[in-house]
Amino acid sequence: MRIIVVGSGIAGLSVAMRASAHHEVVLVTKGALGGGSTAWAQGGIAAAVDDADVAVHFEDTLAAGAGLADPDAVRVLCSEGPHRVAELVGLGVPFDRDRAGFARGREAAHSRRRILHADGDATGAAISRTLVAAVRRATVQVIEHAFLDEVFVVDGRASGVRLLLGGDEVVLRADAAVIATGGWGALYPHTTNPPGATGDGVAAAWRAGAALADLEFVQFHPTALAVPGRPLVSEAVRGEGATLIDERGRRFLVDTHPDGELAPRDVVARAIAAHRASGHEVLLDATGVPGLARRFPGLTTVCLEHGYDWTREPVPVTPAAHYAMGGIATDLHGRSTVPGLYAVGEAARTGVHGANRLASNSLLEGLVFAARVVEALESADPWRGPPVAREQLREAGDIPIERHELAAIAWDHLGLERDAVGLRAAIARLDTAHVAGSTVPDRETRNLLDLARLTARAALRRERSVGAHHRHDAAAHIRSESRPLEVAAC
Ligand SMILES: Cc1cc2nc3c(=O)[nH]c(=O)nc-3n(C[C@H](O)[C@H](O)[C@H](O)COP(=O)(O)OP(=O)(O)OC[C@H]3O[C@@H](n4cnc5c(N)ncnc54)[C@H](O)[C@@H]3O)c2cc1C
Repeated sequence: MRIIVVGSGIAGLSVAMRASAHHEVVLVTKGALGGGSTAWAQGGIAAAVDDADVAVHFEDTLAAGAGLADPDAVRVLCSEGPHRVAELVGLGVPFDRDRAGFARGREAAHSRRRILHADGDATGAAISRTLVAAVRRATVQVIEHAFLDEVFVVDGRASGVRLLLGGDEVVLRADAAVIATGGWGALYPHTTNPPGATGDGVAAAWRAGAALADLEFVQFHPTALAVPGRPLVSEAVRGEGATLIDERGRRFLVDTHPDGELAPRDVVARAIAAHRASGHEVLLDATGVPGLARRFPGLTTVCLEHGYDWTREPVPVTPAAHYAMGGIATDLHGRSTVPGLYAVGEAARTGVHGANRLASNSLLEGLVFAARVVEALESADPWRGPPVAREQLREAGDIPIERHELAAIAWDHLGLERDAVGLRAAIARLDTAHVAGSTVPDRETRNLLDLARLTARAALRRERSVGAHHRHDAAAHIRSESRPLEVAAC
């Protein structure tokens, strides 16, 4: 079979490498090979420490997902994860070691130290480098600097993609297409994501007829450095003992949650935003972390570049958009609702994250479900998930919208706190909006507009607060909700 894989983060590289053993594989990617969020990942990759820990990792992931994660998907993630990570070790990823074997870090809401990391805080770059080398060794046709514009469907089956390549439109035909284009944090003005995280594959899949799900669940990372560009300060730093304080030195999070700084991400992010909004500074104090500069060399450099020596002084932090829990609805083998169209990695909604992702589970998700997509390519089985509908949108309007206006609407109304009035106002404007032009930046803005319209509707529909979705017009924030029978779809 001829397979087109779109995207070259951990998910796309893993699919391309594995599928190339049995199929003709074309790997298409927007920038250079290995671009995307993967290479920016710092903290590491979660994997159960031993057989007994599989069940604990499963429970931690379900708890973080606030009752909305799919237990079957989480079981797959936690039980297959250690095997896939062992394969990464076999490929040569240089995970850090200590005297006991692999060094294991801890992050929020993990009840054990189970995060493998490489080069201290450059885990994603180490994984990306290794997978890029493996793809280069494999028989994979790589097309770099090619922009996925549309997925086309013939007789109900995905049959290829249309690309923008060097100013031309190029059509590539295939027996199956795999979307591994990552998330869309670039919708927001403050994000930890690279600028290319514009949800192109998710929007194209939706236009091709695929159902999306869980778009209302957007994870805001609590601790981006409060400087332009919002570089992420990994949760692993708090895992090693750093605290969050205000200008008076008060650890305000201990009043908010029994786990203090290691409470779930949404809790910490909202507490920081509220504290800042009430006029306080919020600082991350890592000065007491033993061997800080050695354990986190990349972050030490980033802080110094912005004028902070974090080994000696607390540094200012603020929440920023970080991760999309929702995406293209898939079954447990990455099949979308459109035959022949698969999704994997952050672009997919497999159900492992529910309403809130457990730290360091996303690199793992990309690896585990990449292997499952390749298994599925061997079979002709159709979608095997629960029934899921696709949200229809009316045609967009004709009033031009620029990226900065879209970003402001997203931050104000689709951000850490939402309410019905704001969401309705957002929908009213977004539905009149139009993105003219056919350059890559224009197409990216159009994709973000589609996703913003769908996200606003999903957020309006979910009237109760749960996990990362906080409605301040709801009576209370519930930590857990029972899973609906059908996937909540967009
Ligand atoms: C700063 C940062 C730190 C993080 N730290 C961690 C961590 O420690 N542990 C963890 O588990 N997760 C972490 N995450 C999340 C994790 O990195 C991502 O969720 C994960 O890497 C996504 O992998 P992916 O392969 O799905 O997508 P990506 O790695 O984002 O790759 C997407 C690919 O698709 C390509 N692409 C996009 N659009 C198009 C298009 N139109 N046409 C062609 N190609 C396209 C991109 O160029 C890119 O190659 C972090 C994220 C960020 C931003």
